[in-house]
Amino acid sequence: MPESEVMVGNVRVASFSDGKLEFDLCNFYPSIPEENWARYPEDVTAEHKISLNLASYLIRSQGITILVDTGMGPVPEDAPESAWGELLSNFEAAGVRTDEVDKVVMTHLHRDHVGWNMVSENDRYRPVFPNARYVLSRKDWEATRMPEYAERFPTASSKLWPLEELGILDVVEGEYAINGELTALPTPGHTPGHMSLLISSQGQKGVVMGDAIHSPAQVQEWEWCSRADMDPDRARASRRKLVEKAEREGTLIAAGHFPAPGFGRVVRLQDRRYWQAL
Ligand SMILES: [Zn+2]
Repeated sequence: MPESEVMVGNVRVASFSDGKLEFDLCNFYPSIPEENWARYPEDVTAEHKISLNLASYLIRSQGITILVDTGMGPVPEDAPESAWGELLSNFEAAGVRTDEVDKVVMTHLHRDHVGWNMVSENDRYRPVFPNARYVLSRKDWEATRMPEYAERFPTASSKLWPLEELGILDVVEGEYAINGELTALPTPGHTPGHMSLLISSQGQKGVVMGDAIHSPAQVQEWEWCSRADMDPDRARASRRKLVEKAEREGTLIAAGHFPAPGFGRVVRLQDRRYWQAL
């Protein structure tokens, strides 16, 4: 069982899964011929599917607790067999309370990253993390209001827009310093305002990548894009930059859709890059 918690200097990062999502390989990576995956057999299931873990990262730094992304959320009544909805029970099993979270930071606003933001009770919205400020990027926030992107952000009206009315929303732009150890950095492409979270403490570095990367194969094949990348060219550029920097600096990576818990590093062997899980 891989460690579900790591330290980056003084910063504690714990991985909590909300479950998983599975897609047909060629459906999720429509522009990548199936034979190209032959070099990455461990990234494809026996049924030729891509299995995405749904990790949220709970970060303790300088006295505050930050939750990065909130999974798919509660299982819908019309799809009771869904393989997600586990985040809060995993919190409970680890003795983490929802009221400990000071900030919920969303890397981006796709439905698999905002699902536990809030629940609806008697036609009212209640934040799942009652003491948290909810942080997201202005570009993604604006994108959720654009009719042409409605299909990309199908849960905006129930998981995002009410945050503003509740007065618990912080919309940020550019580089956003959360504290002396954590900075949200624009890494656009997957969505217009996608952010990754940089960790820097005691000379050590870490990065929560969000959906700048989906599959370990993309550590080497950074130009491979999934259909979820809204602007493929910018997504490639952001992914390449992040992966190259992580290799150069020996950064600890937290990749939420990689096999749980999603911690690892980029290593180079005989002129190729590899994902080395912790
Ligand atoms: Zn995602």
